[in-house]
Amino acid sequence: MGRIQLESVSKMYGNTQAIEDVDLDIADGEFLVLLGPSGCGKSTLLRLVAGLIQPSSGRILLDGNDITAAPPRSRDLAMVFQSYALYPHLTVAKNIGFPLRSRRFSRTAIADSVAAVAATLDLSELLGRRPAELSGGQRQRVALARAMVRDPGAFLMDEPLSNLDAKLRSATRTELIELHRRIGATFVYVTHDQVEAMTMATRIALMDNGRIEQVGTPAELYDTPRSTFVAGFLGAPPMNLFDATVTESRGELHAVAPGVNIPLGIEADSHPEHPIVVGIRPEKMQVVDTHAHVEAVVTTVENLGSEELIHIRAGSNPLCIRAPRPSNTEPGAPVAVSVRPEDVHLFDRDSGRRLMWTPENTPARTGTPLFVA
Ligand code: ADP
Ligand code: MG
Repeated sequence: MGRIQLESVSKMYGNTQAIEDVDLDIADGEFLVLLGPSGCGKSTLLRLVAGLIQPSSGRILLDGNDITAAPPRSRDLAMVFQSYALYPHLTVAKNIGFPLRSRRFSRTAIADSVAAVAATLDLSELLGRRPAELSGGQRQRVALARAMVRDPGAFLMDEPLSNLDAKLRSATRTELIELHRRIGATFVYVTHDQVEAMTMATRIALMDNGRIEQVGTPAELYDTPRSTFVAGFLGAPPMNLFDATVTESRGELHAVAPGVNIPLGIEADSHPEHPIVVGIRPEKMQVVDTHAHVEAVVTTVENLGSEELIHIRAGSNPLCIRAPRPSNTEPGAPVAVSVRPEDVHLFDRDSGRRLMWTPENTPARTGTPLFVA
């Protein structure tokens, strides 16, 4: 079992607040990814769960039991670090069996467990080698095997793939997803890489500055980011975000900015102008011949092989469109773009929070109810 709960957990380093009042409930069997920029507190949060450091305030529960003060050894958790920390003088088999030997398991019990875990991770052929004779990916698997051999309730991983090259990282990502599916244990996985988070997580907790900004499935965070921070963090290329104003025109609300006038599909008799930030994903902007909502100039076109990234400028705002090839756009030429109302994200400019309209004609919108049409 491996349900992990954090209740109002804070961590101070001197005057630095590394973690601020975090609440998080990780269900047994989840693949929870702690995601966020460097320095936002991901490793600190994981180390708090592992018991390597103590919270300044708050409680941590494992399967309902308060483990806040419990030493790391007594927690039913296994930690896998970025540096694999294998013993260079020991064979793969001895490295994997190490946690059991220090717990005084019998020789045959250790050998059986090592063989079973090695088979799971495709390491059976390598048991006699030493770490120096392994590739980075193989070392990573040995580190994982050493964590798995204890059959812990949860695995805690801190950027375990960041030392691998791009190809191996992608392959190991797939392996980890399969492994999680097979063993069904709780995984808490730290990364700053949004692609890892999107592909592996059952839920993502996106952190900023010691706080959790949003928790949800990858689709929830991608489709309904609750702030400009979340909107800008997930997605590559990132969501286009630019300042605009909401105004009412002929009974409908529009998002208006230089070169931009997007009807929002929301009826309104009259509405005060309101400063907002508009968000549109690059794949949700279509190059069109007529009925443009954005009139811009093409700056550069990047050919990605399967598609094109068309960089444009609307007023002074640089925007990016992801389009099928060939888009037949030319640098320096004018371009017309259309956007569907449901693909426009709206955020309050002061708070950065997602906006929604209260009337029932906009069921897809969720967020702070600031506007009433
Ligand atoms: P992340 O893993 O997201 O990059 P960390 O959890 O390592 O972030 O760090 C969060 C914040 O806490 C940073 O501002 C970092 O400088 C600070 N910090 C981390 N560890 C210590 C420490 N041992 N002493 C003082 N400050 C620390
Ligand atoms: Mg870290």
